Amino acid sequence: MSNINLHAPYKERVQTALNDRHLQIALSRTAGRFSIAREESMAAVDGQRLRDQVRQMKEYVLRNLPDLLETLEANITANGGQVHWASEGAEVDRIVLEIARQANVRSVVKSKSMATEEIHLNQALEQAGVKVVETDLGEYIIQLDHEPPSHIVAPVIHKRIEDISQIFQRELDMPPTLEPEAMTRIARQTLRKEFLNADMGVSGCNFAIAETGTVCIVTNEGNGRMVSTLPRVYVVVMGIEKLVPTVEDAFLQYQALCRSATGQAASVYLSMTSGPRGQDHPDGPVEFHVILMDNGRIDMLEQGFSEALMCVRCGACLNVCPVYQAIGGHAYGSTYSGPIGAVISPILHTDVTDANKLPHASTLCGACRDACPVKIDLPRLLLDHRWKQVQEGESAWVDRQAMRGFLMMMRSPGRYESALGLGGLGTRMLAGMGGGTVKHLPPPLNAWTKSRDFPPLAKKSFRAQWRARKKGVKREE
Ligand code: SF4
Repeated sequence: MSNINLHAPYKERVQTALNDRHLQIALSRTAGRFSIAREESMAAVDGQRLRDQVRQMKEYVLRNLPDLLETLEANITANGGQVHWASEGAEVDRIVLEIARQANVRSVVKSKSMATEEIHLNQALEQAGVKVVETDLGEYIIQLDHEPPSHIVAPVIHKRIEDISQIFQRELDMPPTLEPEAMTRIARQTLRKEFLNADMGVSGCNFAIAETGTVCIVTNEGNGRMVSTLPRVYVVVMGIEKLVPTVEDAFLQYQALCRSATGQAASVYLSMTSGPRGQDHPDGPVEFHVILMDNGRIDMLEQGFSEALMCVRCGACLNVCPVYQAIGGHAYGSTYSGPIGAVISPILHTDVTDANKLPHASTLCGACRDACPVKIDLPRLLLDHRWKQVQEGESAWVDRQAMRGFLMMMRSPGRYESALGLGGLGTRMLAGMGGGTVKHLPPPLNAWTKSRDFPPLAKKSFRAQWRARKKGVKREE
């Protein structure tokens, strides 16, 4: 189980992650692998054009969200499915429990779904006495170890193969082995029985096609196909933003998602469900329910963060983020981690401890924006959060005083020059004692040097060098 207590203060979570040797090994083994695959896959097509097209389509969806949602509802209903609307996560839980009660459901198999993680659906079902089994291999592993996912598409990225082997030995009586094939075989055998016995399948939705009323889930293991076809009841929980207008748009998003998430041109499975089994169909669910969930998404629209609703949950921004690569997903304390998690977690209606600290978990290097298949300007959204916090008086007293001092200095060239001179002298003196760089700044600046050096200011500022240079040029003339 992860060492990180998700409800501990943010700083403590980060410190625990940085001190976790196994987590650091797991992250270093996978860091960059996804990003290289994404770059190669995007380079194989006109990646920029694909990103522009997806962005245009998602902008259209946001502009027409109410109409498209109504079209989706009308088409699912016409196909024989049932649509439910839920403004909060707790309402989704209530709806699913009611469907389960009416259909006398005892066991549920689930396909990977961040939306149901967001609202803790598994706990609600288990508390009602319903058995829930995750069937995506990564999700199954963390369910066995009682953990939440730490990555949007690779939930078990924080574990080493050695850790997974121990979990399987403990929970599934597997003989000791580090062979991935042997472990997968054991999981497959166990899960196959669960699929065949389940009364209800639950999944999220990668995208739903408004014009046909079709829910699409993208998987590589085929578990999504079994979840959506084997049990007699199939329930989909989808955020209201997970829409595409047409079938053509669906394949556009599918391409961008697969290439950005895993570097594949296409995933192994794309499962599409438009309604329950028809009279002459040999398989498929007898009941098909789609729950359209808000849970803070409308707030995102209203608070100026609508761009984040264009996210296709590919995880590319996590894979390139230097902060995510150092601390992994659990340190964010939210279902959604990395840059996109830092943007949406403070607004979604979820119980994340210190959610307002997450927009500060970024160096603003811009790598996330460059990797995003929808060109979401994540650094700007993070800055918008910080700006909002300052406006609402949520910034730290020390930060406010520091900014006031900085402003005073920058407004006067004389004060600026004097501060530089004094700062240069001070930092060079401190560096002299520390040998090259400043090892210990005085309080309150010592928070910086707790974990990093501080290079002393240059002896001659750029302005002084520029002045000297200009003088020299004049003399030569
Ligand atoms: S913000 Fe962009 S890169 Fe990050 S998960 Fe969403 S779509 Fe992918």
